[in-house]
Amino acid sequence: MSHQQPAHFIDGEWVAPLDGGTRTIINPATGEAIAVVAEGSPSDVDRAVDAAQRAFRAWRKTTPRERSLALEEFAARVESRKEELIQQEALNGGKPLFGARWEIEDFVIDGLKFFAGAARHLDGIASADYQAGRTSSLRREPLGVIAGIVPWNYPAEIAAWKIGPVLAAGNTLVLKPSEGTPLSALLLAEIAADCLPPGVLNLVLGDGVVGAAMAEHPGIAGISVTGSERTGVAVAERAARNLKHVDLELGGNAPVVVFSDAELPLLIETLRMGTFYNAGQDCTAATRLLVHASVYDKFLTAATAMTESIVYGDPLAEGNGDVEMGPLATEVQRERVDYFVRNAVAAGSRVVTGGRKVDGPGYFYQPTIVDKVRQEDPIVQEEVFGPLMTVQSFESEEEAIMLANGVRQGLSASVWTQNVGVATRVSNELDFGTVWVNEHLPLVSELPHSGHKMSGYGHSMSRYNLEQYTSTKHIMVRHDR
Ligand code: NAD
Repeated sequence: MSHQQPAHFIDGEWVAPLDGGTRTIINPATGEAIAVVAEGSPSDVDRAVDAAQRAFRAWRKTTPRERSLALEEFAARVESRKEELIQQEALNGGKPLFGARWEIEDFVIDGLKFFAGAARHLDGIASADYQAGRTSSLRREPLGVIAGIVPWNYPAEIAAWKIGPVLAAGNTLVLKPSEGTPLSALLLAEIAADCLPPGVLNLVLGDGVVGAAMAEHPGIAGISVTGSERTGVAVAERAARNLKHVDLELGGNAPVVVFSDAELPLLIETLRMGTFYNAGQDCTAATRLLVHASVYDKFLTAATAMTESIVYGDPLAEGNGDVEMGPLATEVQRERVDYFVRNAVAAGSRVVTGGRKVDGPGYFYQPTIVDKVRQEDPIVQEEVFGPLMTVQSFESEEEAIMLANGVRQGLSASVWTQNVGVATRVSNELDFGTVWVNEHLPLVSELPHSGHKMSGYGHSMSRYNLEQYTSTKHIMVRHDR
C-alpha cells in the first residue's frame, strides 16, 4: 500500500483506515477535488498509539546525538523535496507560491534543523551537593507518546513544529493534520518512512472525532493542539481526565497600536503582509488597527490604497505569478467572514473598502477594511480569520492599551512609534505572547511563539518548546557512608 491510496501512516507503514472511511480533498482556489484520503476513527488512534508506545521503548534510550542526527537527516530529505511540498501547500491551501516557499524554507526546514541542534542542548541546574553528603542531579526525560493536532492554515509548518521538538526530546508522535489539508503531512510521512524508525512518527487522518479520541486516550502522555479556542478548551477538558500534559496554541486577534509619530509608509507596507498574508488566516494577523486620532484620516487613506492594490487570485493559474493573496480555505470560512462583515454593517459599522465575496470559482473574499466599529462588536472581539482589518481611534496611551488588551485573546500585538519610551512602556503593558515594535508578523525558530489568556499556554518553537515535552527527575545519591 502507498500513500496514493487512502491510508494512515502507522508503525512505518501505510495502512487502510479500519472502518474504510475516506474524504475528498478540495483545492480552495477552484473548488475542485484534488485527492481522496483516509478518514480515521478512534480505532485507528488505538493502533497508532500502540505503535508509538512500542517505538518509544527504544527511541527514549537514544542519545541526544542520535536523535539530532536523525532529525538532521529528516530535515535534509525534506529540503531535497521542498519543491513538491511547496506545490502541495499551494494546491491544498490556496497559498501563493512565495508564501508556501517562505513557510517550507523558513519554518519547516529551519524549524527541523533548529530542533536537530536543540536536541543536544537541554539546560538544567548543575549537579552538586545541595545537601551535605548527598549529590543531586537533574534528568530531563521524555514524556512518552505525544499527540500533535494541526490546523488548516499552516499544514506543513505546524506539523514540523510538532515533529521537531517532540522527537528531539525523545518522545514518539501521533500526528493529526486538519481534515481538509492533509497533503503536505502525507508527504512528510513518506519522507519519514525512509529515515526514521517505525512508530516514531505516525500519522492518523481525520476530523475532530479523531482529535477527541486522542485527547482522552490513556496511552498518550501529552497533547499539543494548534487550533481554535473552542478546540483548545474541548481538548483541555478531555485531557484532564487522565492528566495529560497539554500545550495549546490557539487563536489570536492582534492589535496594531499606531501612535502619532509612527512611520506610516513602513506600517502600510508591513500591513500588506501583516493583515493579508494567507488571506488573513493567520493567528498573528494584524487585524485590529488602533490609530491615534491625529493620524486617523491619513492612515485610513493610505491603508485603503494599499488594500485595494492587493493582487488576489488562483496562485497556480497560468500567468498568476504575482498573486499575493489566495482564497479562504473553505466555503464555510468565507461565509463566516462575510457574516462578521454583514453583522457589523447592520450594527452601524462602515465598510471602507472590500466587504464582499468574489464571484466565480474558489472561496475568494475581497481585501477589506471596516471602521466605525465598537470595542464590544463581534468583529472586534472574535478572531474573524479573513482578509480584513478593523480600524478604531484612540486619544491617549492609556486608552490604546485598554482597547488593545480588551479582548479574550492574547497571542500577538504590535506597537508603532519612534519614541523608545512609549514603545517600551506599551509593549510591557500589552498582554500578548509576542509584541513587535515597528514590525508585525516575523517569528524565529529560536524564540517562543506562545499565547496569553485564551490564546492558550505552552510554546511553539524555541528551547522552551523542547523542555515542555520533557519531565524533570531529581536523583539524590547519598555518599557519606
Ligand atoms: P480548529 O480548532 O477547527 O481545528 C484544528 C484541529 O483540531 C484540526 O486538526 C481539527 O480536526 C481538530 N479538532 C477539531 N475539533 C476537535 C476536538 N473536539 N478535539 C480534538 N481535535 C479537534 O482550527 P482550524 O480552523 O483548523 O485553525 C484555525 C485556528 O487555529 C485559528 O483559531 C487560528 O488562530 C489557530 N492557530 C493558532 C496558531 C498558534 O500558533 N497559536 C497557529 C495557527 C493557527
